[in-house]
Amino acid sequence: MDLYEYQGKELFARFGIPVSEGRLATTPDEARAAAEELGGQVVVKAQVLTGGRGKAGGIKLAASPEEAEQRAGEILGMDIRGHVVRRIWVEAASDIGKEYYLSLTFDRSEKKPLFMLTTEGGVDIEEVAERSPEKLARLHVDPLVGFQPYQARWLCFTAGIDDATEQKQVIGIVQKLYDSFVGSDAMLCEVNPLIVTPSGEVKALDSKFSVDDNALFRHPDIAEMRDPEAADPRERLAREKGVTYVKLDGDIGILGNGAGLVMSTLDVIDQVGGRPANFCDLGGGGDAEGVVAALEVITSDADVKAILFNIFGGITRGDEVARGILTALERMTIELPIVVRLDGTNAEEGRAMLTEAAPNLYVEETMLSAAERIVELAGAR
Ligand code: GDP
Ligand code: MN
Repeated sequence: MDLYEYQGKELFARFGIPVSEGRLATTPDEARAAAEELGGQVVVKAQVLTGGRGKAGGIKLAASPEEAEQRAGEILGMDIRGHVVRRIWVEAASDIGKEYYLSLTFDRSEKKPLFMLTTEGGVDIEEVAERSPEKLARLHVDPLVGFQPYQARWLCFTAGIDDATEQKQVIGIVQKLYDSFVGSDAMLCEVNPLIVTPSGEVKALDSKFSVDDNALFRHPDIAEMRDPEAADPRERLAREKGVTYVKLDGDIGILGNGAGLVMSTLDVIDQVGGRPANFCDLGGGGDAEGVVAALEVITSDADVKAILFNIFGGITRGDEVARGILTALERMTIELPIVVRLDGTNAEEGRAMLTEAAPNLYVEETMLSAAERIVELAGAR
């Protein structure tokens, strides 16, 4: 689950990482009131779950409450790469001396958290990694040993931060970032930029904070931060209906039962030259309710040109799944071609029920033939 900047900063503050004081606003009026309370110059920041807001015009300085109100009016409702701005964060403006970059993320290949620190902050970190990799200090933390204070010193020296008062503050922030990461079951904590003010104060000017969905049960306070309106509408629909849905960028909708089967279906589609638009995992189910819910989610995706069911009947019997599909087709009008590959318990009965049940319904016995058929049907549309 991705957090908004202001939510990430709230977590940072809890763990002792310095951030600027700010207020959340949803209207220009509220932004004005926030600026009045904060006093002085403020920065009005679009809260959307995507980066690069500055470049997109979603971050503006304001010298007075009137100006904050005006800037808020411009930013609210703005579309930043498909994310509509509904919330803004009004923060006491900082004077920037230097912009650094600090992050902690999971390096899956090493199975360890990875720190990155560079004095080349404020820009895309991918750019720094490519242009001047020697400027990027990288360090893995062994989760069993835990974070060691010398590691923060190593990061600081390697990144080339040589001012003693800066070092002291950055070392403290590195330790606290590790605490925030572990303490929140985060997948990513990124501070870009981590600034040094002209008077030498180091603080987090931005926050990108991602928490492991599977650990949210341990953090009800963070779980509550979820903004249901920010989710992809189909993901929200799927969540409500209790089916697992993942959006991809091809044109074939995939429905299967069980994560392993669904993953291999994606591979087989790829093998025969097709591209999945999404996939839905019905889990152990396959009853009419589950099938209808999954079909509703999948067909609401305009990219889908054809739908492939790949079902292996185990505890769920093939004839039950077939009944589910037929009930679903009675309840909803689907004109897209549907290929069903059904195997396992009572598969023959299931296939017999589906054969010639509808003109757009095709039954296949094997995964490969089903994949070939669906790619052909999707290609013809
Ligand atoms: P992002 O573009 O989505 O990464 O948003 P950031 O929060 O990182 O802000 C982008 C840029 O806006 C920063 O790199 C700063 O240059 C600028 N900015 C943000 N807050 C302030 C501030 O308080 N004072 C000043 N002078 N600039 C700011
Ligand atoms: Mn940033």
